Amino acid sequence: MTKKNKETIAMKWSYSPALESKDHINLREKYDLFINGKWMKPSSGKYFKTFNPADESFLAEVAHADAKDVDKAVQAARDAYNNVWSKISPSERAKYIYRIARLMQERAREFAVIETLDAGKTIRESRDVDVPLACNHFFYYAGWADKLDYAFPNRKVSSLGVAGQIIPWNFPLLMAAWKIAPALAAGNTVVLKPAETTPLTALKLAEIIEESGLPAGVVNIVTGFGDTGAAIVNHPDTDKIAFTGSTNVGKMIQKSLAGTNKKITLELGGKSANIIFEDAPIDQAVEGIINGIFFNQGHVCCAGSRLFVQESIADVVIRKLKDRMRSLFVGNPLDKNTDIGAINSKEQLATILKYINIGKEEGAEIFQLACDIPDKGYYCPPTLFTNVAQSSVIAQEEIFGPVLTIQTFRTVDEVIQKANNSPFGLAAGVWTDKGSRIFNLTTKLKAGVIWANTYNKFDPSSPFGGYKESGFGREGGLHGLSAYVKLS
Ligand code: ADP
Repeated sequence: MTKKNKETIAMKWSYSPALESKDHINLREKYDLFINGKWMKPSSGKYFKTFNPADESFLAEVAHADAKDVDKAVQAARDAYNNVWSKISPSERAKYIYRIARLMQERAREFAVIETLDAGKTIRESRDVDVPLACNHFFYYAGWADKLDYAFPNRKVSSLGVAGQIIPWNFPLLMAAWKIAPALAAGNTVVLKPAETTPLTALKLAEIIEESGLPAGVVNIVTGFGDTGAAIVNHPDTDKIAFTGSTNVGKMIQKSLAGTNKKITLELGGKSANIIFEDAPIDQAVEGIINGIFFNQGHVCCAGSRLFVQESIADVVIRKLKDRMRSLFVGNPLDKNTDIGAINSKEQLATILKYINIGKEEGAEIFQLACDIPDKGYYCPPTLFTNVAQSSVIAQEEIFGPVLTIQTFRTVDEVIQKANNSPFGLAAGVWTDKGSRIFNLTTKLKAGVIWANTYNKFDPSSPFGGYKESGFGREGGLHGLSAYVKLS
């Protein structure tokens, strides 16, 4: 451990380490591709390594799928769609999806530990948020599988065919669940690609899918990099592309799909506003700010990364926020006391540090928690900037790390304008005692999700998605189901 600031450290409680055990997890040394219900070697023979960002240790080797492998996976998904999945009754489909959900629940601890090892997120979060929510998505959509006619009354509902799904590294298992569960419930088959830095829980899910007896080819999991994702997008026999990731790649995907008949949903970046009015419950709001940006190291597309505080309470909010930041623990994500785990990769840490430097150069005032961080691994202490201009790069661009910008406002109209002055529109938070003000803002803020007096709350029945450069289409709830059906 490196010593940084004795004064800050002295203010904290100290805890003995409480490391979650790794004894019960079962990881292979090498993972092949899960295609047509079997584990297949990649046709190129190439594998890549996945590491633990908390200490840079090697975790496993993973196959790199090329266009030939993707073609096999799409073929398998097509055959499974034509011959099995579209033929069996919806209630049979539901049983398989329930079975997957239950098997995931039984292995919840194993999933949580592997997610923490591969992604760097805290065990508290993978155990209490990612894994239970992922299971709940399967349970929720299993319930719709035999009720599609009630979901869309007076419409004829049909499935789309083969869905190609590409997911990012910030919520690896949860994003797989968001994508696979509604696709299967609506009667589609799937080819899914996890992110290159976090493939392990999707591969664990493949093991569970195998164990569940789901007919071969209904779900295929191919691992690889951007080229693997592009092969899925450009394959002529995929009927739907669902992508969650960066706005740049989302734009490229949209361009390459222009003029095709493929249905598409994109969930992209964000720069979400968290707005605190003077009548808000301040201590709760401070907790909401912490949860909104420092939760998951800021690796959340809907992170409340732009804080707007009404001028009259700015001093007190900033003081309380700094005090609360001083009590946070940054470190080994497997330790149950840790609040802020590891940044997902070396590259992402470099991006975050680049933005922190830009913020300083732009003249904003920085406050960063001075704390011990492990010598190995990728870590960034929680950081906030005050004196931030609306036009500042750190207030405009997505950082995807534990970095908060703070601006003040006087009137409701002013904060609406400031909050909407962003190329993104994924989420927002509003903290106030007045219900009428909440309703006023929810109609005027251009954000797909708006939380009132809370932040970062998710439920499988509630749709999630963005405006503007944050993408289009919704995941979760009935809206999420409608992205996987044809209605006539
Ligand atoms: P991030 O910046 O969050 O890593 P990316 O958009 O680069 O987001 O990655 C999200 C997912 O998209 C990953 O699974 C990645 O491998 C995949 N991907 C990257 N480039 C492409 C591409 N050109 N076409 C399709 N998928 C891609």
